[in-house]
Amino acid sequence: MTDRYAVFGNPLSHSKSPLIHMTFARDTGEDIDYGKIEPALDGFAATVATFRAAGGRGINITAPFKLEAHALATRRMPRADSAGAANCLKFEGDEIVAENFDGIGLVRDIERNLGVPLAGRRVLMLGAGGAARGAMLPMLEAGPAQLTIANRTRSKADALQSQFAPFGKIDIKNPADVGHSSFEIVINATSASLRGELPAFAAGAVEPGCLAYELAYGKGLTPFLQFARSAGAGRLADGVGMLVEQAAEAFAWWRGVRPETRPLIADLTIPLA
Ligand code: NDP
Repeated sequence: MTDRYAVFGNPLSHSKSPLIHMTFARDTGEDIDYGKIEPALDGFAATVATFRAAGGRGINITAPFKLEAHALATRRMPRADSAGAANCLKFEGDEIVAENFDGIGLVRDIERNLGVPLAGRRVLMLGAGGAARGAMLPMLEAGPAQLTIANRTRSKADALQSQFAPFGKIDIKNPADVGHSSFEIVINATSASLRGELPAFAAGAVEPGCLAYELAYGKGLTPFLQFARSAGAGRLADGVGMLVEQAAEAFAWWRGVRPETRPLIADLTIPLA
């Protein structure tokens, strides 16, 4: 029997998740159907209940429901627990199990696809919202020499530092002050690019030749990537690889089979020009 999965979000018109998961299913021979469900903003839990009752086996979750998905779970895996948000649920009997694969998707894309190890590197992450929170544990587990967080609203960065200090060394800086040291990897985990804005930060943070990584995808050369390039970044990447990698983690968690990601990333990549 075909097993049903879906992505939940609102709005969802942009979602590539059905295409990604159906490609994984075709490539691995798994018999699944993967749809798109857009609950009303106050209707997430009820829509999940309906989907479960109809035999749904699991869902991915995108904005704005990741916190609600976490709250709905009866059991939380460590990454979802520490992020306080879930981007994936698995329905197992009476249990709703929560995971968060966003951060591990980011780490896998940087390390495996782009070939840049995080271990021993100086990393700057701009932003302290949901995506940054989800990235903290996997990033720290990768062992950077230094992880610096700079966010427009300082208190949110301070909160990340308090929560994740047991897992590694975290520095907090104001975006205007990050230029006193330079970083080998600069990650834009703000949502500024979704509105075509530049998250202001000191150009001195960009070490010549560094990797500048934009979490948003499909936006081409965003103001962040343009700024990083003009400040000396040698490599530019957007979040399409992260998107595909987090999906592959979810697929493997649900189905027990890990799909190939590189051909799909190549297909979905929009040149950064
Ligand atoms: P949130 O709304 O949770 O957080 C937004 C963050 O961006 C906050 O830190 C906010 O700062 C900061 N910010 C917003 N606008 C500006 C600005 N103009 N200048 C400086 N900082 C700004 O968003 P998410 O964390 O969920 O998403 C962040 C990005 O990650 C988005 O682009 C999203 O598309 C992308 N993403 C990509 C994924 C992928 O698979 N590739 C997966 C998940 C997210 P403040 O605290 O001051 O408000």
